[in-house]
Amino acid sequence: MVRFLPGVVGEASRVVHLVPAPSGPGVPSELVAYCGTSIPPGVAEWLDAVEGMPCTACLLTAPLPTTSCAPQLPSEAPGR
Ligand SMILES: [Zn+2]
Repeated sequence: MVRFLPGVVGEASRVVHLVPAPSGPGVPSELVAYCGTSIPPGVAEWLDAVEGMPCTACLLTAPLPTTSCAPQLPSEAPGR
């Protein structure tokens, strides 16, 4: 889980995004969350637990077993 550092984006945009686990060693050059938001590593804050507001689009898109029975929302463009 990752979110933007304070000051990089507005507080309203500092939702916690879910990113796929890196497939290789080291930090990838760019993190792309399940919702499609790309986060450069330099402005990313790694979280060990959900803290603050989670990204709804990530929660719906990420392959988590706990969301298997979640209702499907109509696809909306995030950030509107
Ligand atoms: Zn997201």
